[in-house]
Amino acid sequence: MSQSLATVAYLGAAILFILSLGGLSNPETSRRGNLFGMVGMAIAVLATVFGPRVSASGMAWIVGALVIGGGIGLYAARVVKMTQMPELVALMHSLVGLAACLVGFASYVDTSIQLEGAEKLIHEVEIYVGILIGAVTFSGSLIAFGKLNGKIGGKPLLLPARHWLNLVLLLVVIWFGREFLRAETVEQGMLPLVVMTVVALLFGIHMVMAIGGADMPVVVSMLNSYSGWAAAATGFMLSNDLLIVTGALVGSSGAILSYIMCNAMNRNFISVIAGGFGSGGGAPAKKGDAAEPQGEAVPVSATETAELLREAKSVIIVPGYGMAVAQAQHTVNEIVKTLRDKGVQVRFAIHPVAGRMPGHMNVLLAEAKVPYDIVMEMDEINEDFPEADVAMVIGANDIVNPAAQDDPTSPIAGMPVLEVWKAKHSIVMKRSMASGYAGVDNPLFYKENNRMLFGDAKKMLDEVLSALKG
Ligand code: NDP
Repeated sequence: MSQSLATVAYLGAAILFILSLGGLSNPETSRRGNLFGMVGMAIAVLATVFGPRVSASGMAWIVGALVIGGGIGLYAARVVKMTQMPELVALMHSLVGLAACLVGFASYVDTSIQLEGAEKLIHEVEIYVGILIGAVTFSGSLIAFGKLNGKIGGKPLLLPARHWLNLVLLLVVIWFGREFLRAETVEQGMLPLVVMTVVALLFGIHMVMAIGGADMPVVVSMLNSYSGWAAAATGFMLSNDLLIVTGALVGSSGAILSYIMCNAMNRNFISVIAGGFGSGGGAPAKKGDAAEPQGEAVPVSATETAELLREAKSVIIVPGYGMAVAQAQHTVNEIVKTLRDKGVQVRFAIHPVAGRMPGHMNVLLAEAKVPYDIVMEMDEINEDFPEADVAMVIGANDIVNPAAQDDPTSPIAGMPVLEVWKAKHSIVMKRSMASGYAGVDNPLFYKENNRMLFGDAKKMLDEVLSALKG
């Protein structure tokens, strides 16, 4: 393939990626968005593999890597459960970071690249910055992976003088950067490069370890953004325009998403990154505080739940992580259909950080074919709870926790929540009194108008459905 044809193919792929992002912003166009992305990626890979920069001898390596990498990817995508998706995404971000590091070292030791003066300087800055972002993304994403799958606890690790520690690490990176740029040979430059890589890896670990469970959504989207910048840095090192464009698209859209998540959680971006929020970050709740269990949690049966739903005029369903675990979305849809047939107004209230990844609930409900027009964002529906007869919480916990409003010492204080307790009745469906991801007790369970439907969400909803139909 000639250079000009490869450039045209890259341009086409870049346009498809932009269309893909546009499509993914709306549930109704998301399938098309996905398709654009897939076609764009296929064009990009083909144009690279058959492009002018790959020699015949390199082809065997590329095909071998494609087969091995593609095989692992295919296997992972087939076996991963929907609830493990965020961990898989975190793991993939770490691979982007690792790739940026490896490409950085490879381009530094590549003797075929002979540059002089300003060009050499720019190339070395690209390498240094690329490896820096790559290493932070790599180790940070691995820790996020551990936190998301529960192998690493959600409590923030708060080292004494951690901000000073970060500052020292930054100064070390700058100082070794100077040493690296002053090095005259590859051998001389290798030491500062390796030291900086180790420091960046430690920084990535420290950064994510310091963030509490409740703030993980921001971290996930932030690492997504970093992985984009790591890819863009790789693009600079390899002089690959498409990689630069794609990396910048991912980097900037991830940054915008992080900003939106911060707004949704009423968090300051800088404070989240500096760490310390989230479970264990705030002062522990004192006796008599709003977060302290007040009263008793009253259990309810599936038949009684069905009775309440049947008598209701307006029902708001709040899905959370537990609905994803139980894979209850199809039964939820059946219940919605049955209620709507009986003339009950049913709507969904979606919290921006419900589940374990942005848009988690929307994906599940779309998969179950719940009509889009009854799926509302938090801001659209939060004021309607007082008019609702029943608010049905399915496997959600943190996102409906009134302590976020009432208890300034709570780790989730200030996070906007869905005000289900304002409905005439609220029913919380979960297996036990256990806390959610942020590890905070939930006073909602003890409210007078609240009932607890204990059990696996799918099993309980099946029982509710048969009681409704019976
Ligand atoms: P939570 O984690 O707060 O609560 C989920 C609840 O579901 C648990 O309390 C659990 O209780 C219940 N549950 C688990 N399995 C089942 C089951 N099979 N059947 C019924 N219930 C079940 O989830 P939310 O969606 O309310 O909140 C999301 C949390 O995750 C927030 O803290 C958010 O910050 C965090 N987070 C969100 C991310 C995102 O991007 N959306 C990313 C990372 C973290 P029990 O064990 O008693 O059944």
